[in-house]
Amino acid sequence: MTTDPRGGGPVPDRDWDRAVGLVSSADEVALACHISPDADALGSMLAVGMALRAGGKRVTASFGERRFRVPRLLCFLPGQDLLVEPGAYPASPELMMTFDVPIADRLGVLSGNADKARELIVVDHHASNTGFGTLNLVDPGAAATAVLAEDLLDRLGLPIDREIATCLYAGLVTDTGSFKHSSTTPEAHAMAARLLATGLNPEEIARELWDRSPFAYLKVLGAVLDRVVLEPAAGRGLVWTFVTRADRASYGLPYDEVEGIIDVVRRTDEADVAVVLKEDDDGAWQVSTRSKGEVDVARVCAALGGGGHAKAAGFTSHLPVEQTMARFRALL
Ligand code: 5GP
Ligand code: MN
Repeated sequence: MTTDPRGGGPVPDRDWDRAVGLVSSADEVALACHISPDADALGSMLAVGMALRAGGKRVTASFGERRFRVPRLLCFLPGQDLLVEPGAYPASPELMMTFDVPIADRLGVLSGNADKARELIVVDHHASNTGFGTLNLVDPGAAATAVLAEDLLDRLGLPIDREIATCLYAGLVTDTGSFKHSSTTPEAHAMAARLLATGLNPEEIARELWDRSPFAYLKVLGAVLDRVVLEPAAGRGLVWTFVTRADRASYGLPYDEVEGIIDVVRRTDEADVAVVLKEDDDGAWQVSTRSKGEVDVARVCAALGGGGHAKAAGFTSHLPVEQTMARFRALL
């Protein structure tokens, strides 16, 4: 495994051994991933959940949103019969495991359950992980949390079938940006090869994740690109735009569907930093930020109460768009 230049490094064998001991001796395991789950968070959790269930454990899985709903984009992931609403989640689990969660806040309403868990195994690859578990399997050098999930299943001796592989592959392909990001190591491709050998359908996974949307998406995208701004911002180039609730309402487009707009905006040659502010159904602004490498957007977003990775991070704002952007600019 690679050593991460930001520090951290691979998970020590003694921690893996402890994890294997804890999981092997548990009858019941409660799994959680971060709120607004992406494919890596939900996929890693469901993969481990399906494998543990096949291995004879009682498994519950969830994420801590009051209005509990799997994003449309991720409805194709197998294993969703493991999911329970946060209200039905064990209040004080014997063994709880979290996936892709860097900080307890991102557990949403399940953070109380994590506080009361007897053992809490944190499986994650964010460099910013605070180590909030009783055992932390955190490797910032891993391309995705799915890499750590696969490693754990191997160490537990649990087989990875086509459905489990589909969940892991969705995480890997998402977090490597379809094998485009610098996290695309020989190890990442070797993992993809192992997963593909189970017979999963990469074409279908890619179409579900990126290559489909309702027609309304094109109309909203048109409106949003029409108001995009390019500005110098500390000589680095900042490109940004925003999507209001009203934009979505006028075409009947759900919030989930606008997640991909940042990938259109960030391609701008003249900008190192890209920002898309998305107004959710509660009127809060979910801000997606991307950097080409000069700026560590995780640090900027952390200063604004959010987090993420150096090149892809986010935060939530309750201020109007212009005020949010003024605060963001000031930190660049
Ligand atoms: P995205 O823009 O795709 O929603 O998120 C990019 C990255 O930033 C992901 O790693 C995601 O977990 C992280 N991120 C997005 N929003 C927030 C937030 O409000 N708080 C924290 N801590 N991280 C966030
Ligand atoms: Mn991830």
